[in-house]
Amino acid sequence: MKILVINCGSSSLKYQLIDMNDESTIASGLCERVGLDGKITAKAKGQKVKFDVSMPDHTTAFYEVKKILTEGDLKVIDSLEEIAAIGHRVVQGGALYKESCLVNEQVKADIDMLSDLAPLHNPAHIQGINAAEDVFGKDVPQVVVFDNAFHSTMPPKAYMYPLPYEYYEKHAIRKYGAHGTSHRYVSKRLAELHPEYKKVIICHLGNGSSITAVKDGKVIDTSMGLTPLDGFIMGTRTGAIDPSAVTFLMQKEGLTPAETDNIMNKKSGFLGISGVSSDMRDVEEAAADGNERAQLALDIFYYEVPKIIASYIVALQGLDALVFTAGIGENGCNVREGICKELECLGIKMDYEKNDGIRGKEVRLDAEGSTAAIFMLPTNEELMIARDTKEIVEAL
Ligand code: ADP
Repeated sequence: MKILVINCGSSSLKYQLIDMNDESTIASGLCERVGLDGKITAKAKGQKVKFDVSMPDHTTAFYEVKKILTEGDLKVIDSLEEIAAIGHRVVQGGALYKESCLVNEQVKADIDMLSDLAPLHNPAHIQGINAAEDVFGKDVPQVVVFDNAFHSTMPPKAYMYPLPYEYYEKHAIRKYGAHGTSHRYVSKRLAELHPEYKKVIICHLGNGSSITAVKDGKVIDTSMGLTPLDGFIMGTRTGAIDPSAVTFLMQKEGLTPAETDNIMNKKSGFLGISGVSSDMRDVEEAAADGNERAQLALDIFYYEVPKIIASYIVALQGLDALVFTAGIGENGCNVREGICKELECLGIKMDYEKNDGIRGKEVRLDAEGSTAAIFMLPTNEELMIARDTKEIVEAL
């Protein structure tokens, strides 16, 4: 069974064709600048091809994907009929969707209705689902996998904000979390390797980062909130700050909510503090060259991340395993080391020699005598989406 996994952004479409017989990736690619000039990067058969092509909307982007998969040098299938189903990543399912499901008109209407909570993402997902219907026809089942569904097990004490209760009732303001598909993949993978570990903390560290506390396979708390802005310093996002700092800034600078949102989401974090870059590697390089603001950005990161981990150890009432994943977590050996150094006071000890140079492969990293196991487990959100899609389609 072949499944096409789709992740639609407002001006992008990422795809991955997965063969579920061995869970291998047959082809993948990224359509960028949809609605603008249009650029495609496509990978298959060990080749990577980049080209420009006009894509005025997501439907034309899907036609391009269809062409790449079925024609020319990167052709991997004879016809679209070989694709059994399509799985879409959806950022926000609110409190309505606790698991993945088949797309129908009601599901589309709900995703649209939840756009308020994810204005950049949910409208793009609807466009993607409609475009897939146009190109593949209505007979190919489509499944949606909600990014925050894994977090739906959080108890009210973790997800409620102490605002007047009426705002929760009126606007559904609460913590929803994000990166749930990644946290779920990693949590399941660890459970396969070590079913005995019941209290787990997963650090998904990338451009966007979140930390999740998982007890008996269920999320009890996570660092992202109503939106993916909450938590700790990220590439361009603030993470948690005093809410009054926001209204203060708006008043002082005469900013609109949209302008403030833009500053907190796109101009803050590593980029805002260092003035150098949002990319961890650039910030590390600048700090090593003596840039004090770059060093300050790193100092904030190494202060905030262990503090959240420590607070989740209390939430879990102990810790069996700490896991690192995503771009920084999988590749940043010195980042994993820097975080674990701060946790030594809790008896958590990393084997720093073993950690050195480890990139992109599953590995256990704790030293003898550590109070908790430490792992690096690469995430695979696309595979998780494909697995859900397969399960739902097979049950039809
Ligand atoms: P996204 O949230 O966009 O999916 P990724 O998970 O791909 O992001 O992570 C991107 C981040 O990973 C960037 O900050 C990048 O600097 C970081 N990264 C990649 N390789 C390394 C490395 N060797 N050391 C430290 N950070 C790295």
